[in-house]
Amino acid sequence: MIQIEELTKHYRQGKSVVRALDGVNLGIEKGEFIAVVGRSGSGKTTMLDTLGLLLKPTSGRIIVDGVDTTRMNDNRKAHLRVDKIGFIFQEYNLLPTMSALENVMLPLEYAGKPKGDREWACTLLAEVGLGDRMHHRPDQLSGGQQQRVAIARSLVNRPALVLGDEPTGAVDSETSDQLAAIMRRMNVQHGVTFVIVTHDPDLAAKTDRIIRLKDGKVVADETTAPEAVAV
Ligand code: ADP
Ligand code: MG
Repeated sequence: MIQIEELTKHYRQGKSVVRALDGVNLGIEKGEFIAVVGRSGSGKTTMLDTLGLLLKPTSGRIIVDGVDTTRMNDNRKAHLRVDKIGFIFQEYNLLPTMSALENVMLPLEYAGKPKGDREWACTLLAEVGLGDRMHHRPDQLSGGQQQRVAIARSLVNRPALVLGDEPTGAVDSETSDQLAAIMRRMNVQHGVTFVIVTHDPDLAAKTDRIIRLKDGKVVADETTAPEAVAV
């Protein structure tokens, strides 16, 4: 589904250059549930943001369904992003004045889809266990519940790929387990590929594949045992 070839991202810092990504090669298949791990500064966020077409690489290619995205103009990239990619952030990034349902429906507007998809948004909120909290605002929800809203929001445009940057980084370990289980269920139920950056070894252990970055390079890429996959 996605081919990453010789991807680099360099930042000039005075006279030196920071190689945030330094020649990454990866293939990602439909339906995979992947963790990206590595120390702070190893390039995880940079990789996720380039994969999410939010950040332009310095060189290399990201090929999505056979099409080289690095040759696309910004407008085409934006369309592809809205159509195919959902995002989950550590700090939820919900709009505080909107209800859970309105937050989930927001990406539908970006995609220019009719409001008729309200039912789908409700279905997703029910699937993440918030069927009875749809009209609550973020400040009326716990951190874990807010992140469930963000998970539902990431799926509302029926993306092929969901990217999470430390999605359990701001919650306790029990809540983290629950969020991991929900993401796995969404992965299986909707056939959506998940790529999740995490510091949490427990979360990484629940994925199918662990990609380890160091100094902008992939230093390990391991498929985890199938028995570790619990739904
Ligand atoms: P991680 O998410 O693994 O902590 P990042 O991808 O955020 O790592 O950063 C990788 C490296 O690139 C770090 O050394 C970081 O300081 C550097 N970096 C990231 N973004 C920028 C930027 N906008 N300008 C300069 N350096 C950056
Ligand atoms: Mg990061």
